[in-house]
Amino acid sequence: MNELRNPGRRALLKRTAVGLSIAPLALGRSPAALGADLPLISEQDPAAKAVHYLEDASRAKEATSGTDCSNCSLYGAAGAKQGTCTLFPGKLVKAAGWCSAWSGL
Ligand code: SF4
Repeated sequence: MNELRNPGRRALLKRTAVGLSIAPLALGRSPAALGADLPLISEQDPAAKAVHYLEDASRAKEATSGTDCSNCSLYGAAGAKQGTCTLFPGKLVKAAGWCSAWSGL
C-alpha cells in the first residue's frame, strides 16, 4: 500500500533488484560460474560429518533411490557435476553426493 503511494521508491526498488540480478553478468560471469571457484567440501570436514555427507550417494546406506544433491532443494548448480549447498557456505558439494539433510521440498 505504501509503495503505491510512493512511486519513486517503488521504481528505485525495481532498479535495485534488476541491478543486483545482472551484476554477475556485467562482470562477465554467470551466477553459476561464480560458485565454480569455490572448493569442494571434504567428507572429513566436521560440518560434512555432522550430516553424514558423502560425495557419492550410492555409498550412503540411508539414501533412498533418486535422492542426491542434484535434486535436493538446498542445492544450487555451479557446473554439471558440483554445486552449492546452503548447509556449507563457501564450499561446493558433488551433484552425485548425499547427506542426511536431503530435502525434496
Ligand atoms: S543438504 Fe542437500 S545439497 Fe546439501 S549436502 Fe545434503 S543432500 Fe547435498
